[in-house]
Amino acid sequence: MLDGVEYYSCVCGSPDHTLRFILDLDPEWPTIYTEIMMSHYQPWYKRVWIGIKYMFGMDTSDHFGCWEIKHEDADKMINMLTKLKNVNKINKEKLNE
Ligand SMILES: [Zn+2]
Repeated sequence: MLDGVEYYSCVCGSPDHTLRFILDLDPEWPTIYTEIMMSHYQPWYKRVWIGIKYMFGMDTSDHFGCWEIKHEDADKMINMLTKLKNVNKINKEKLNE
């Protein structure tokens, strides 16, 4: 049961730095999924090489990006986390009945 999808842009304004949070209030497995858009600024053969290095456990540490939440989005994110927390609390109460 999806309860909402929210997008969060980075303070830098880059469209590559947009996160999508999906709140799923399924009583069996309530969770929040996070999706990140992968950038395609490298040519295809470099992306394949990065993928091969990743598959064989080689160093890919230089391919991390950064995302910084906007302060005005904090309440929106807290609201989503509170919904998840409340579903977990209700499920625990049901288990104890
Ligand atoms: Zn950014």
